[in-house]
Amino acid sequence: MKIVVDTHTHSVASGHAYSTVQENSKAACRHGLKAWVLTDHGPKLLGGPCLYHFGNLRIIPPIMDGVRFLKGVEANILNLEGELDMPADYLARLDFVLAGFHENCFAPGTLEAHMKAIEAAMRNPLVDAISHPGNPVYPIDIEGFVRLAGECGKPVEINNSSFNVRPGSAERCAAIARSCVRQGVRVVCGSDAHISFDVGRFDKVLKVFREIGMPKTLVINASIRSFDAYLEERRARVAASLSRNGR
Ligand SMILES: [Zn+2]
Ligand SMILES: [Zn+2]
Repeated sequence: MKIVVDTHTHSVASGHAYSTVQENSKAACRHGLKAWVLTDHGPKLLGGPCLYHFGNLRIIPPIMDGVRFLKGVEANILNLEGELDMPADYLARLDFVLAGFHENCFAPGTLEAHMKAIEAAMRNPLVDAISHPGNPVYPIDIEGFVRLAGECGKPVEINNSSFNVRPGSAERCAAIARSCVRQGVRVVCGSDAHISFDVGRFDKVLKVFREIGMPKTLVINASIRSFDAYLEERRARVAASLSRNGR
């Protein structure tokens, strides 16, 4: 299996990442990706970009180095209501939206608190996936989390960097992936690159997938066709929610 779209990457705009859009694009090309999503951190993260960063993403060419560029964010979940640090009209203009916990935006609490906030964020039609759900700093009920993603029609992120930078994640990420296989819930792989060398790098995730027999049909970014099909599905979901809200 090969992952052809990286749905989780950061640039210098995140404040603690070290590569530019152009460096990431070249790396995406070198690693044979068909598309990649820039998901810089939301504005409330320490050192994160301001809202204008997201409003101006449209000036970035849609194809660079022969690879498609997609606009995204890794927004911060702020509270138990699943509120994010970006207004809905900004989120609605992006191609792929991650939402996750980061320590200066949501203090680690009980498993119940994490699940409540995640459920609220996941039910937001503008959110595509919860970032690094295997982070042991924010324990979750793995079976319940995967079931909820399935119910909401959202893919579960399996984050390659978690295996390297979030101690204690490996077991939890593998358990999450196993639960997705068991429950037939789709997954999406993100490198969570904070430097261009890691864009398109999925070595740890693919090793786990081989060990547990992850079927390619469940991995939305294992082919450009299945990723485009997901983008189509999310556009319909976002459009329906905007028309319900009278926008
Ligand atoms: Zn980061
Ligand atoms: Zn990230």
